[in-house]
Amino acid sequence: MRVNQFPEDIQPYLIPEPSGDLIYRCLECGEQFGIRHLLYTCPGCGHVLLLYDAGFDRLREISGTLWRKIFDYRRMLNIPALNGIYRYHELIGPILPLDSVVWLGEGHTPVVEANARLQRKVGLRFYFKNDGQNPSASFKDRGMASALSYIQYLIKQGYASDVLAVCASTGDTSAAAALYASFLHPDVKSAVLLPHKRVTPQQLSQPLGSGAMVFEVPGVFDDCMKIVEHLSDHYNVALLNSKNAWRILGQESYSYEIAQGFEYDMAGKTVVAPVGNAGNITAIMSGFLKFHDLGIIDDLPRIIGVQSEHANPVYKYYLEPDPQKRRFEPVQVKPSVAQAAMIGNPVSMPRVIRLVAEYNRRAGEQKTFVVEVSEQEIMDWQLRANRNGHVVCTHGGECLAGLVAARKSGKIAGHETAVLDSTAHALKFADFQQMYFDNNFPEEYGITPRSELINAPELVRPPDLKHVPEPGSPLAGKQLEDFVKRIAEEIAVRLDLKKV
Ligand SMILES: *Cc1c(COP(=O)(O)O)cnc(C)c1O
Ligand SMILES: [Zn+2]
Repeated sequence: MRVNQFPEDIQPYLIPEPSGDLIYRCLECGEQFGIRHLLYTCPGCGHVLLLYDAGFDRLREISGTLWRKIFDYRRMLNIPALNGIYRYHELIGPILPLDSVVWLGEGHTPVVEANARLQRKVGLRFYFKNDGQNPSASFKDRGMASALSYIQYLIKQGYASDVLAVCASTGDTSAAAALYASFLHPDVKSAVLLPHKRVTPQQLSQPLGSGAMVFEVPGVFDDCMKIVEHLSDHYNVALLNSKNAWRILGQESYSYEIAQGFEYDMAGKTVVAPVGNAGNITAIMSGFLKFHDLGIIDDLPRIIGVQSEHANPVYKYYLEPDPQKRRFEPVQVKPSVAQAAMIGNPVSMPRVIRLVAEYNRRAGEQKTFVVEVSEQEIMDWQLRANRNGHVVCTHGGECLAGLVAARKSGKIAGHETAVLDSTAHALKFADFQQMYFDNNFPEEYGITPRSELINAPELVRPPDLKHVPEPGSPLAGKQLEDFVKRIAEEIAVRLDLKKV
């Protein structure tokens, strides 16, 4: 719809103009810094930063009701820059002119309700938000769209040129970083560091296909992270890990979309997300807090973070009920099928600690929880979900296993509604499914396949069938007839089909 066709009271707000006053704020010492230079850590004390809008109060001048209308009407626009996460421009990157926005199709992923059978099995109503339907097939595209839009802005303003973007990755960050950087090639080039043999072949193929420099490094993600931190401290590179606060801003769109998708009614809702480096859960909390702050939602949803027993530092931290006594200890990770979350020392932990406290304070009760699940549960629930019409990867399975655990322990009631973050597409992690079907998980995973969830293709080649098509020599005539008839008969026997 064209702008002049919208209701008049909405027209002035439809197309956002650059506004606001974004600053980096250190979570430790409170020092603030301008955004003309990319910062990852506080130049004063070295701790992580978040971006704040020092002009946020101007947004309060618009009522929650009007904001809802603005976001809802923006759905009808056909302006590429506003088709994705920048529908929420004022909250995600208010200073950016729309011509700096990079939109590759990310955002506004479907929220799909589980079928009745699966809901009965789990014991409450729930949905998957399919973030695997983003361009690089994971939610990481949200934050990357934000980070690269900002970099494009810096380039257009003449504040940056010839950017070399780097990241460490468990597979999906590098896929997203390489994709978005390649869109801005040659102004932006990218290099990614991956833990050797700890990303799936599909994930490895993604940055290679986008033309990034790909470095495989011995060790696990936490080791790669240390190296890119060293690179960003000592060399002129742009860090694209979620340590980069611009990533967090973009990922907040996930919360905004959920709120909008449920008509801004968050009462009795729970959002479930896997936790690895903890950037996503940081953004989810921050996003709902901003919507709440502006009166766009009246209630804060419950947030449940899920971790595998093999990479559970955040879960362990919150086991201690007394906030004064909590001590963060990185853990040594063990191999996990939720490989993208196989992180022992999450970079965003200080953000999580800050935001969890703020979230619960604002909600007036404990609304944030972390649950732990086994590798076995992750695989079993992934496969069950996918046998009921979903396309979740191991991390979506982790969410579902987490929901089941939360339901069992009474953290969520049967009359409530949950939205599960299906963080990546099932195809990225097809190898874990195969290992399950072939029952050949290395012992350290501790996974024993359940026979009812195993599946395998069956070759149909009756021994008495003389002629079958070969490459370059198709069958014809009587041979083709025999072939079709015998194969069909054989399939009918195996499927126990009745003749009509
Ligand atoms: C990155 C990632 C996670 C973990 O998100 P964090 O922000 O690191 O906590 C979970 N699932 C998938 C598929 C991912 O790519
Ligand atoms: Zn500081």
